[in-house]
Amino acid sequence: MNSPKKDGFHPAEFLIWLGELMLYLCKGLRVGLRWIYHNTLRHYKRRIVVLSKRAFRRTKRTLQHFWQRLTAPFHKTADGWRVVRQKMILTKGQPFRVRMNTLSDAMQDGFHTNAGLVRSLFNLCLPLLAAVVLAVVLVVVSQMNSGVNVIYNGQVIGVVNTEAQANQAIRMVQSRMVLNEGDDVFTFEPTYSIDYVDSSAIMDEYQLADEIISLSGDSIAEGEGLYVNGSFFGATQDLGTIQPVLDDLLNSQRTGAEDEEVAFAESVEVVTGLYPTANLQDGEDLAAAITGTTQEDTYYTIQVGDTPSGVADALGIDYDQLLALNPGCDQPQNFIAGQQLLVTKAVPVLSVQVTRTIQYQQEIPYETETTNSSLYLQGTNKVTREGQNGLADVTARATYVNGVEVSRTVLSTTTIQEPVNEQVTVGTGTVDVSSGGSGSFIWPMSGYVSSEYGDSDGRSSNHRGMDIARYGGATGAPIYASAGGRVIYATYNSGGYGRLVKIDHGNGVQTWYAHCNTLLVSVGDVVAQGQQIATAGSTGNVTGPHLHFEVVVNGVKVNPRRYLP
Ligand SMILES: [Zn+2]
Repeated sequence: MNSPKKDGFHPAEFLIWLGELMLYLCKGLRVGLRWIYHNTLRHYKRRIVVLSKRAFRRTKRTLQHFWQRLTAPFHKTADGWRVVRQKMILTKGQPFRVRMNTLSDAMQDGFHTNAGLVRSLFNLCLPLLAAVVLAVVLVVVSQMNSGVNVIYNGQVIGVVNTEAQANQAIRMVQSRMVLNEGDDVFTFEPTYSIDYVDSSAIMDEYQLADEIISLSGDSIAEGEGLYVNGSFFGATQDLGTIQPVLDDLLNSQRTGAEDEEVAFAESVEVVTGLYPTANLQDGEDLAAAITGTTQEDTYYTIQVGDTPSGVADALGIDYDQLLALNPGCDQPQNFIAGQQLLVTKAVPVLSVQVTRTIQYQQEIPYETETTNSSLYLQGTNKVTREGQNGLADVTARATYVNGVEVSRTVLSTTTIQEPVNEQVTVGTGTVDVSSGGSGSFIWPMSGYVSSEYGDSDGRSSNHRGMDIARYGGATGAPIYASAGGRVIYATYNSGGYGRLVKIDHGNGVQTWYAHCNTLLVSVGDVVAQGQQIATAGSTGNVTGPHLHFEVVVNGVKVNPRRYLP
């Protein structure tokens, strides 16, 4: 459809057309009303007709009255024309000037006697005229569109929506043309004009690109090209080559999981169009390029004196990245001169991104609860209950790029087994060695002192401990830690002590428990003051069952009496 602007506006033609239209509308209205009356109202049931007859007749009369008023101006106008025509018939055969005067007089008479009629005709027509003009404008506008003419050498070669689209088409052409080194860059500088155009004439950038290529004069052929993230990758004349290659790449990452999403990480587009024949490659070559990599793996050979961080610095890559490419290379046994380090990893041309729901079990780490206790010396931590990890069923949504997980969102976690928290007793107790008899030690066994520190009893000229025995025999009597500390010795001693326990209390203080029957602790155990560590006996160099108890301060065996309450 052509624009009225282009053709010019002819008021006379338009008015004639408008008059015809209005007469037609009036006729149609009358016919339509009559049709409605004959086809619907007439067939109403008698009762309804009787009941509504009066109202109907009144309505009909009103409508007829309204219709007469509505059509009266037209009837009068028609009558007026009939009068004018009769007057003109009477002047038949008379000179032209006379006839024109008669016509003029008759029409003036008509207008004078019917001034009101002209006004009411005008009033009646004005809204109709406005409605018709609006309809015409709507019809024209709906088929017209503002577009950009792309003009080259004085000729419109295409129409697009925006100038940016045209620029994109030119870039597309350039990317299709410039493949060989040394070739001149294709230039194309059209002019633009904005115009109202038919919507169906507007092209997209691909169609315009084809138009431009066909103007370039080069040898061109139909082909299909691959665009990755909007950049031209390559084209082939073997139509239907690219899509199966893309499908295979996607399918290779599918596992068939129900809600799996498999797509290229890049935006990938196959464009069929005109390409310079020089830039079209064999279908197999293009397929190989698409499934290939953008760069190969590269390596660095470790030199004598190199360090992992030094190599990363020298190569200008991130140290963490080097570690990720070469797991364990920060360990000396894995970083040996002459070995190769992976420096850059091959990157596929197209990355396939897969998102799927995964289910797995995960340990729930236990927590540690601590309790303070003066029964243990400061600096000691006694595990009173071992912690145990719990277990949970986890459902997560994981995303992989080329098979490597890049993100994971946990959807739900169901605990199968609750973790058992570890309980640790932290020692707050102190041993005061500077002031003897402070009361920070307790008696290791109940009984009587059968031999004091320093006694000469025949077995040893200088007794370095205190012997505790029981009437009726001490064998099996419980021996308790005199103070909290760590067991540093718990075995048979062949030097005469028999079964011996040594406890280190820190600050250079130790207590020794000799001649035991059974040992209830092991080296490394942390014991609290008053905790049973052994039973008394008669192992080693003894004459009868008893506990030989020693207190050692900074390697010197001192009199236990100084510390016992
Ligand atoms: Zn003794």
